[in-house]
Amino acid sequence: MADDTIFAVATGMGRAGIAVMRISGPRAGEALRALSGRAAGAPRRLVRVALREPGSGEPLDDCLAAWFPAPASYTGEDVVELHLHGGRAVGAAVAEALAGAVGLRPAEPGEFTRRAFGNGKLDLTAAEGLADLAQAETAAQRRQALRQMRGELAALYEGWRGRLVRALAYAEAAIDFSDEDLPADPISGMTHEIVGISSEIAVHLDDCRRGERIREGVSVALVGAPNVGKSSLLNRLVRREAAIVSARAGTTRDVIEVGLDLGGYPVLVADLAGVREAADEVEAEGVRRARRWTEEADLTVVLFDGTRWPDLDPATLALVDERAVVVVNKADLAALPAEMRVAGRPALAVSALTGVGLGALLGEMTARVAGAFTAAAGPPLTRERHRAALRACHEALERGRGAASPELAAEDLRLAVRALGRITGRVDVEDLLDVIFRDFCIGK
Ligand code: GDP
Repeated sequence: MADDTIFAVATGMGRAGIAVMRISGPRAGEALRALSGRAAGAPRRLVRVALREPGSGEPLDDCLAAWFPAPASYTGEDVVELHLHGGRAVGAAVAEALAGAVGLRPAEPGEFTRRAFGNGKLDLTAAEGLADLAQAETAAQRRQALRQMRGELAALYEGWRGRLVRALAYAEAAIDFSDEDLPADPISGMTHEIVGISSEIAVHLDDCRRGERIREGVSVALVGAPNVGKSSLLNRLVRREAAIVSARAGTTRDVIEVGLDLGGYPVLVADLAGVREAADEVEAEGVRRARRWTEEADLTVVLFDGTRWPDLDPATLALVDERAVVVVNKADLAALPAEMRVAGRPALAVSALTGVGLGALLGEMTARVAGAFTAAAGPPLTRERHRAALRACHEALERGRGAASPELAAEDLRLAVRALGRITGRVDVEDLLDVIFRDFCIGK
């Protein structure tokens, strides 16, 4: 348990009705008494208090205070929450009094949650879920983060870990006792468990990065020859889907990414440099990057120029694969057939200028994106950190099942148990903590 007491405004910066100042540590109750002149009252009740600067007696705010004595608090320590009026000057004045007259320390980013982890209030996956929940922009992101915060992933990984610990006990029994002393065959019990868990982990790993894509966004590459209307179409999509969640502009030769919310799923659409031969070095780099983005995209929207139908750009044709939604643009200028197929795939007629066909295109994109997420049951893998640990665990199990002796199998099992323990933070993770909590903001 930490011996110093920390404080920070836990709500966002900017104008708001209230701002919550969190104080956590052994001197939290004393801090409340110093500012309000009254002792912390009944736990978990909001009471109205008048705050004054302890030295000068200058009034700071009339606010609400809540008292959460250890261990029943967010951090597991004594916690006071002050619901201040939202003005920046109010939070600043109270912070100054806490740091000055009371002698507390401002919290580092993520420090409250780190203390909560240290006091066993949550495991690392729950802490990561909490960070994701604070950043969730779409419904799917919110649902996934909430499930993780509530412990679904921890239950899955801890479940496997518990079973492996039992298998390890079988292995150790086989090492320590002779056959006659043992009631059942420990080796076959152990092998059975290893094989079962190993295949469950393999299934969990082979999920097409479902959970990671919900966190990071499904990537959609908008590709086609120069002047086919990629930028116009992206602008249209953005205007139609008022819910832009982010916009990052590069140069015209570079990649422009726009975040959209399609049916609750986060999507990152990139307008890529045209399919063409590069005229100079800068452009060549743009084209290279565009190619890489296209190769790695989850979905492509491949654009053709309707005014040239049925003469189709061969370089763009080469990009039509099973990920492609094929679009023939500039339908307002061309007499296009009612049904079109391009490289064996149905094509949608669209006009980025008038908006014709845009609804159908959005519908198709949403269906494809949603389709990518419906397949699997159970909580999904959400982070590369977990993936790496699960791979290490799986490798150790695969070695262990073929091990020549119980001693070697036990060694592999110990490695597998450790790998799982690092995901939830059960075993030495000191080296990981800075990385994980660095992503939190101050006040979390
Ligand atoms: P990009 O190079 O693929 O990004 O193409 P742009 O979006 O810059 O469009 C090239 C030109 O085609 C611009 O003059 C657009 O106004 C025009 N354009 C794009 N889409 C349409 C469309 O659906 N109909 C018509 N008539 N013009 C379009």
